[in-house]
Amino acid sequence: MAPILEIKNLKKDFKDFSLKNISFTLEKGFIMGFIGPNGAGKSTTIKLIMNLLKKDAGEIKVFGLDNVKNENEIKNRIGFVYDENYFYEELTISEMKRIIAPLYKNWSNECFNRYLKEFTLSPKKKIKELSKGMKMKFSLAIALSHQAELIIMDEPTSGLDPLIRNELLDIFSYLIQDENKGIFFSTHITSDLDKIADYVTLINDGEILFSTTKDEILDCYGLVKGKKEFLNEDTRKNFVGIKENQFGFEALVKNRNSINRFINNGIIIEKPTLEDVMLYFTRRELNV
Ligand code: ADP
Ligand code: MG
Repeated sequence: MAPILEIKNLKKDFKDFSLKNISFTLEKGFIMGFIGPNGAGKSTTIKLIMNLLKKDAGEIKVFGLDNVKNENEIKNRIGFVYDENYFYEELTISEMKRIIAPLYKNWSNECFNRYLKEFTLSPKKKIKELSKGMKMKFSLAIALSHQAELIIMDEPTSGLDPLIRNELLDIFSYLIQDENKGIFFSTHITSDLDKIADYVTLINDGEILFSTTKDEILDCYGLVKGKKEFLNEDTRKNFVGIKENQFGFEALVKNRNSINRFINNGIIIEKPTLEDVMLYFTRRELNV
């Protein structure tokens, strides 16, 4: 069975930024969080997947199909939630729906009405009266009403208050109970991943630093703390990144076991949070 999303050696050059040969894969049945600091290349990657931008090289396959050659079929099967508002502000939810529904082969009004109720959205409300969280829910209701198999969202949780953010994350967990679906969403908020991601793909400055399961990160990576005397050329080789001050250091290792033999030298090893992992990876350049 083909992966639901497969990206191989994808490149895109802008004047001051390049997406450098990125690759990663998402199998159906899972949620992948696409994380990285502002300007890392998340939106660019998503626009390339949606064929809103033209790639310079590489391959993007959705449902096993080339994303440019099979654009129409793919778009019928994707639910895309934009980071910017693309609705007509003056229309109501129900008027907007009447414009959007005919664009999809598998549209179900029954399904749409059910999600409006579930998300407590009134069909009579004008788009301009919706909060950002409500707009996100409206976009999701649309995605779900055309039976999208893959949901792609660019920063769906940014700018939402914690309550609405959690509510949205709960909706994603609920959706993925259908194991034929996949969810790919970008974020710069690691707590989104703590809660719902199965896979985490980290991008920084146009490069993929890792793409792996969340459990592998939390089970294998280690946060090492100790005195400065521990540091030498040999021990430093183990570190993804390090923070030093006059008393000691704190560093990230990819494999906790690789450092176990040093434990008698007065270091301690702790489990990192995803926040730690992202910060050490993306600040790496400052420390070497
Ligand atoms: P992210 O979504 O991770 O915050 P983006 O993918 O939006 O990052 O942007 C990555 C980099 O590419 C930024 O430096 C941005 O200025 C640049 N960029 C994005 N779109 C364009 C464009 N159309 N033309 C030139 N540069 C762009
Ligand atoms: Mg972005």
